[in-house]
Amino acid sequence: MAEVWLARNRKRRLEQGHPWVYRSEIAEVRAQPHTGDVVVVKNHQGLEIARAFYHEQSQIALRIVTRDLSETVDRRWLRRRVAAAQDLRRRVAPEATAVRIVYGEADGVPGLIVDRYGSVAVVQILSAGMELRRDWIAPILTDVLGVTAVFERSDAPAREQEGLSARVGPLAGPCPESVEILENGVRMFVDIVHGQKTGHFLDQRENRAAIAPYVRFAADERARADLRYDPRLPENVNAGRRGARVLDCFCHTGGFGLCALAYGAAHVTAVDSSLHALETLEQNLARNGWEQRAELIEANAFDILRGFAADGRDFDVVILDPPAFAKHRSAVDAALRGYKEINLRALRLIRPGGFLLTASCSYPVTRELFTEAIAQAAADSHRTLRMIDFRGAARDHPALVAMPENEYLKFAIYQVQGDLRRSPATRAETSVGEHRDVTGLPD
Ligand code: SAH
Repeated sequence: MAEVWLARNRKRRLEQGHPWVYRSEIAEVRAQPHTGDVVVVKNHQGLEIARAFYHEQSQIALRIVTRDLSETVDRRWLRRRVAAAQDLRRRVAPEATAVRIVYGEADGVPGLIVDRYGSVAVVQILSAGMELRRDWIAPILTDVLGVTAVFERSDAPAREQEGLSARVGPLAGPCPESVEILENGVRMFVDIVHGQKTGHFLDQRENRAAIAPYVRFAADERARADLRYDPRLPENVNAGRRGARVLDCFCHTGGFGLCALAYGAAHVTAVDSSLHALETLEQNLARNGWEQRAELIEANAFDILRGFAADGRDFDVVILDPPAFAKHRSAVDAALRGYKEINLRALRLIRPGGFLLTASCSYPVTRELFTEAIAQAAADSHRTLRMIDFRGAARDHPALVAMPENEYLKFAIYQVQGDLRRSPATRAETSVGEHRDVTGLPD
């Protein structure tokens, strides 16, 4: 087996559990391995520390596949990794029919993502090492997970860095284009062929469940009084009448909005720039019988937020789940301006006592930077915010502690406490009951 000797003056990240070695950290490569080969990794003294997939060109030259020097990287290695990965998911998501089973490096399989949607597994291969071993994958997944079909969605841009072109297609079994899942009690269709990523954003599953307390009732008594039971309306419309009016921005196929309706929201306005995602959302609404409780808008969310403010529309709850504004450190400042901007626009639409549910999936934007951007948005919009909850990705997305970029997802829940500029006279006119209490200002 070829050997890669590491430089003396590198940081000891590998020893701390980081799964990668960069090209600049290598002192010498012996016996000319090829891209995708498994090599022995040695420190500068020749001490063997791990085995890794080698890459001749990528900046990430080595991806660790095992630290157990007696372990051979063969089909049984992959089977053990998949079985261990499935064991964790059985613990943390025993009820979920849609779950991330294998999460690459965090599950010890560099560059392999496996999402399970019912009886179908969707696979993403993101490393040359796994690409070489692609024929191991489907038989092991069908056997260990018991799925009847395996579909490949290797069309993520990250493949380019490994010198791999896009591949999309079935690997095993008869693959339907669309799979029905049950998430948090809601029926949803996942378009595994044409949907974004592997079809569904599983990392937000637990956060979608966490919104229940905020959507169950409208922000204030007056709004609730407007929405009393009306015998002329269908039962399922009445069911949500006392609930919140929700704006779900960057809704994709409706994950958050659908959960909101299930938890008692009166109505959801769902905004996304992707027509295809909204078409799936339409099917999802129909499947659950909720067509009359939602409004779908194909648009740029930034424009919609501004337009709603101009029209004087308001909501009890606004959800913001944008795509990553920063994929690299160099983009952090621009991303923070973006987060401040959308959160500022959202805050202007939220009734006092209502909630802002806001996410960032930019890994270089830390919790501190993200919450600071929201604090600035609160100050500029003259709102007082209090944080009710702060969360990360669902537990089927474990994070290696040595790899801080694994903690990319932030999800914060704030309650909005009134407009600081409002004069006492205006407040007395417009406030009722708890509405006044939540401003926290003296009368
Ligand atoms: N909240 C979703 C996931 C959102 S992913 C869920 O729980 O499933 C981000 C979404 O933002 C994608 O659907 C993408 O189409 C959409 N998007 C990207 N840029 C946008 C923009 N400027 N305005 C509106 N939607 C946008």
